[in-house]
Amino acid sequence: MTTLIDELKSIVGTGGWKSSPADLEPHLNEWRGQVVGKSPLLVMPRSTEEVAKVIRACASTGTAIVPQGGNTGLCAGAVPDSSGEQILLSLTRMNRIRDIDSVNFSMEVEAGCVLAKIQDAAQSVDRLFPLSLGAEGSCQIGGNLATNAGGVNVIRYGTARALVLGLEVVLADGTVLDCMRSLRKDTAGYDLKQLFIGSEGTLGVITAATLRLFPDPGLTSTALIAVQHSGAAVRLLAQLRTSLSDRIEAFELVSDRVFRLVEKHIPDACLPFDEGYPWYVLIDAANGGDATALESSLLAAAESDSSFLDAVIAKNQAEAQELWRLRHSIAEAERQEGKALKHDVSVPVGRMEEFLVRGEALILELEPEAKLLVFGHVGDGNLHYNVALPLDPESEAWAAAGATISNAVYDLVAELGGSFSAEHGVGLVKKAYLERYRGGAEIDLMRALKNLLDPRNILNPGKVI
Ligand code: FAD
Ligand code: ZN
Repeated sequence: MTTLIDELKSIVGTGGWKSSPADLEPHLNEWRGQVVGKSPLLVMPRSTEEVAKVIRACASTGTAIVPQGGNTGLCAGAVPDSSGEQILLSLTRMNRIRDIDSVNFSMEVEAGCVLAKIQDAAQSVDRLFPLSLGAEGSCQIGGNLATNAGGVNVIRYGTARALVLGLEVVLADGTVLDCMRSLRKDTAGYDLKQLFIGSEGTLGVITAATLRLFPDPGLTSTALIAVQHSGAAVRLLAQLRTSLSDRIEAFELVSDRVFRLVEKHIPDACLPFDEGYPWYVLIDAANGGDATALESSLLAAAESDSSFLDAVIAKNQAEAQELWRLRHSIAEAERQEGKALKHDVSVPVGRMEEFLVRGEALILELEPEAKLLVFGHVGDGNLHYNVALPLDPESEAWAAAGATISNAVYDLVAELGGSFSAEHGVGLVKKAYLERYRGGAEIDLMRALKNLLDPRNILNPGKVI
């Protein structure tokens, strides 16, 4: 091990590695602090060639490598195990924007670029890179692609998978796979890049990507609507998609209890209503120069349905940003509130209301004192369906009740044709569910691909599969 560590240090050079406990500490804890690993070394290569050399050196000794981006993932996929033998590989120093082609609406970036930097670079040439999520100030595009991240604009632009034209990946034997094309049409053989998107560092290390850009949608109208029940939100979505066509950029549902946590933990956070309502919907719609379109569509919807209780439409950018700050602060507020059961599930949009009604009844039957913390991307059929339990979070009783409730939730999701992992991935914490819900031919093929691409199991071993 000492020889390998010396070799890795010499590949990345001075300033390219960290090994002291204090320097490593932030890289060993997952975002919620619930999984902590150990590692002798973090390497930070500066180029694809250096990544390839690092992987070749590790492959020669069969040493495991854990790729890490911004370490904001929510499934403990980016932290090493507790053996103290896995090498952490961070692409943080590979953070160049290699090229922006505004005519082709594309952009070449290195994997360590922070998402917000990519959004800003696109905007500087009047283009939009639409991936947007609460962690955008620290997550990296390599991590976003490795998790096939979703976020708030999926309803219009799709998940990370839909935003990639080309990819550069270093394979488990150090081979560089250069698929950095910037084509919208390319039917030459299998689409290999898609294999690595969403593979959470288990099939290859993403070093660069060609991203798809979009026309800047221009001004956006933002509204926060209060509704009586979640079914009204689902109906509103259908109505607005009919009247505003594809101009809905985001459509988020948040329960009152969740926004109260934001008000409790986030400084100066305050809902813009005098009274509380059961549910809220936050909407962004490209207004196409007609700022009143969203307003009149909402009025029409309210007239036809008494479940719409109140609405606030942002008068300017600052007000819109304030509404979005409430939404983007949810994960931080939940973290401060303490441990809860987390479920990141999706069902077909048309079955969302059934899921919410049946899910709540199921949980309260199992644990009458449980508190549901529900929010998410209704337009994508994706809910963060979290549950706070009235038990000591470190107790065996919590773990046992949690397992029973999670199994019941995931069984219901499966019955409704949904997924136990909508946008956060599988990582370490949901591996058992992949076995349970994607068994048979599907998981057999996943295993065969893993064996083919990483026969010595050195890329993020123990994660996903
Ligand atoms: P990391 O956490 O560092 O890594 C995630 C996984 O990708 C790990 O398995 C890691 O090994 C692998 N990986 C990282 N880089 C590479 C690489 N270059 N090559 C190969 N594998 C790699 N997620 C959503 O989808 N939607 C949301 O709305 C959302 N909101 C969030 C809000 C907050 C406040 C937080 C903290 C997280 C949120 N997340 C959300 C989760 C998280 O931000 C995403 O999963 C993000 O894509 C992870 O990026 P990262 O750079 O932090 O990756
Ligand atoms: Zn989300």
